Amino acid sequence: MSDVRNVIVIGSGPAGYTAALYAGRARLQPLVFEGSVEAGGALMNTTDVENFPGFPDGIIGPDLMDNFRKQAERFDAELIADDIQSVDLTGEIKVVRDSAGAEYRAYSVILAMGSAYRKLGIPGEAELSGHGISWCATCDGFFFREQEIAVVGGGDSALEEAMFLTKFATSVTVIHRRDQLRASKIMQDRAFANDKIRFLWDTEVLEAVGAGKLEGLRVRNVKTGEESTLNVTGFFVAIGHDPRSALVRGQVDLDEEGYVQTQAPSTRTNLPGVFAAGDLVDSTYRQAITAAGTGCSAALDAERYLAALE
Ligand code: FAD
Repeated sequence: MSDVRNVIVIGSGPAGYTAALYAGRARLQPLVFEGSVEAGGALMNTTDVENFPGFPDGIIGPDLMDNFRKQAERFDAELIADDIQSVDLTGEIKVVRDSAGAEYRAYSVILAMGSAYRKLGIPGEAELSGHGISWCATCDGFFFREQEIAVVGGGDSALEEAMFLTKFATSVTVIHRRDQLRASKIMQDRAFANDKIRFLWDTEVLEAVGAGKLEGLRVRNVKTGEESTLNVTGFFVAIGHDPRSALVRGQVDLDEEGYVQTQAPSTRTNLPGVFAAGDLVDSTYRQAITAAGTGCSAALDAERYLAALE
């Protein structure tokens, strides 16, 4: 038997496992590298997921990902809990290397490494993540009805999050380190016109405070050095994302923010036989359902590519 696989999937979030499920059901016997730290992806860090269709009562993030994993395994996906450290994707036969340097070869590769939410790195942030601190208003805004909320950040996405949160919150305080925003003029005008939003300028967040759940933020004015406490029970960190594309930089085309570029509506990259899905390609939607959707597309694209090679 040839040691060249049909398809290797790199990543084990909703995109990677869905690609594996579809490739498995197409009898392609996919090999999936799940990563050594966080098999299951970003949803392993959350509690209730209420917006993944098919679960009318919601589902706990790790339980949802366990279901994804089992469903992929049921159709013969082979799962390896290791990181791919280097790749050579330019030839007809693609080579990936694991953390021990062992090589695996395939005719096609699906990239589904996701993207990391940027963290502030302040005390209390990790402990209170999912207990008042969030990185996604679309995902979690609903949990903060009639509460006082803060958003940190100064770009378009911070203002978008803030405006979305005004549907639920009593008030939204946007905290920004400078005295003007990076966001586009139109977004700024909308935010300034929204009477639920107020701005805390020249301010940095020092600490998230609370026993078991968020009770407030310790903040400092960077100009005066004055420290104070902001009493909020919700805090959204909107300072950007880092797509995990370093692995393929120099081979696969990336946009200026580092997202893998695909030939939409397909999941094809610039390299034949290399497909990409999920948050690794998506700076816009960043949802489990959209990641799963493009994971499905990537498997179908890979299947067609392999059929054309025969
Ligand atoms: P990810 O889920 O990020 O998975 C990528 C995987 O690739 C990871 O397992 C990683 O370890 C692995 N990987 C990376 N590099 C390598 C490598 N070199 N080798 C091997 N493996 C690698 N979305 C919703 O729809 N609803 C919600 O309620 C919701 N809540 C959220 C709560 C939190 C706290 C967070 C952080 C996100 C939330 N999201 C939610 C967003 C959602 O989790 C993401 O949109 C989704 O997980 C993206 O899926 P993905 O498969 O593209 O990437």
